[in-house]
Amino acid sequence: SQAFDADAALKERAVRVIPGGMWGHQNSARLPAGYPQFFSGGEGCRSRDANGRSYIDYMCAWGPMILGYADPDVEEAAARQRAEGDGFNGPTPRLVELAELVVDVVPHADWALFSKNGTDATTACVTTARAGTGRRKVLVARGAYHGAIPWCTPSVAGVTEEDRAHLVPYDYNDVESLEAAAESVKGDLAAILVSAFKHDLGKEHVLPTSAFAQAARRIADAHDAALIVDDVRAGFRLDLGGSWEVVGVRPDLSAWSKAIANGRALAMVTGNDRFREAATKIYTTGSFWTAGVAMAASIATITKLRHVDGVAKMWGAGERLRKGLQAQADKYGLPLKQSGPAQMPVFLFDGDGDRSLGNRFCLEALARGVYFHPTHTMFLSVAHTDAVIDETLEITDEVFKAIA
Ligand code: PMP
Repeated sequence: SQAFDADAALKERAVRVIPGGMWGHQNSARLPAGYPQFFSGGEGCRSRDANGRSYIDYMCAWGPMILGYADPDVEEAAARQRAEGDGFNGPTPRLVELAELVVDVVPHADWALFSKNGTDATTACVTTARAGTGRRKVLVARGAYHGAIPWCTPSVAGVTEEDRAHLVPYDYNDVESLEAAAESVKGDLAAILVSAFKHDLGKEHVLPTSAFAQAARRIADAHDAALIVDDVRAGFRLDLGGSWEVVGVRPDLSAWSKAIANGRALAMVTGNDRFREAATKIYTTGSFWTAGVAMAASIATITKLRHVDGVAKMWGAGERLRKGLQAQADKYGLPLKQSGPAQMPVFLFDGDGDRSLGNRFCLEALARGVYFHPTHTMFLSVAHTDAVIDETLEITDEVFKAIA
């Protein structure tokens, strides 16, 4: 007899009461058939679906998990704050402690303000840049994702042309196109918005060239505009001080979220003194933006990442995985194309236009207890130890063999 399929039963109930059964990026219908929709738990680098199947998880809740699910130090800090209280008529002392810590850790930051989602933060960066410069135009890379409200959502449903009237496209890592875009709106340029690195869905991931990063800084300065780094996805994985530290360029404003509280809902804008007054003038707020538990979790997360040298650990684990996978792909003669920083990889296959090979690779891994994503940036965490990588590689050897 067939075991009860809790995921299928939940999906069936969901289509009746939830639009499309699930909205947005976590809709499992966006993945090859066979991926679970619902999850019930997780510890360390492993998560468990609603049917109780456990996976070595290379999506890390789409980025927020960075130290491990249910990390004991973060959970203890959160529990302590929960006992004291979460939301009041004003913020808790954790707000000042967290802002002080962030200003200490992030070199470009003279101040920080907090919200909940990455979109809150990218939007507040753009608003601050416009308030500070008195200008309208924002340069945005073609294909880059910056959030899910009308000015930036990838869908056009429900969006008006006017919502995006002041966005000007350029190509990431293409200095000439950036220069031309800036020149085309001379006198009205508020900001250049850049992703931490090029991490477009379904495409090879590419780090910023140092020429591009320096040009972005130089062009922003020449036009007296803001340079904004969208560090929502990459924040704290490439460098604790912000992802463009690796190319030696400091932005005026950065947007953060995902990993900054190890899974608790928190986003942040960091900025320099040039934009302090502008950030004071704009009106940005939300009922839950000052909640203390997420901030306590964030303080514990940043403190621990610093203490254990989390970035180096994630990089090392990612390199171990990358080298192991490459050797296996070569052994079985499969055109695996790994790209992105080691701690935030994407796995694609050459000549796999219909994604059939990538999808099979991911489904065979899923069936053996490894959760990869066929097209999106994946994430390593501090909980992905060398032993976990080796366990993964034993499984992927079988996966490559099965699809070869
Ligand atoms: N910017 C980037 C680079 C992102 O990856 C995301 C989330 N995937 C966002 C902005 C938006 O963040 P959120 O979904 O938390 O609003």
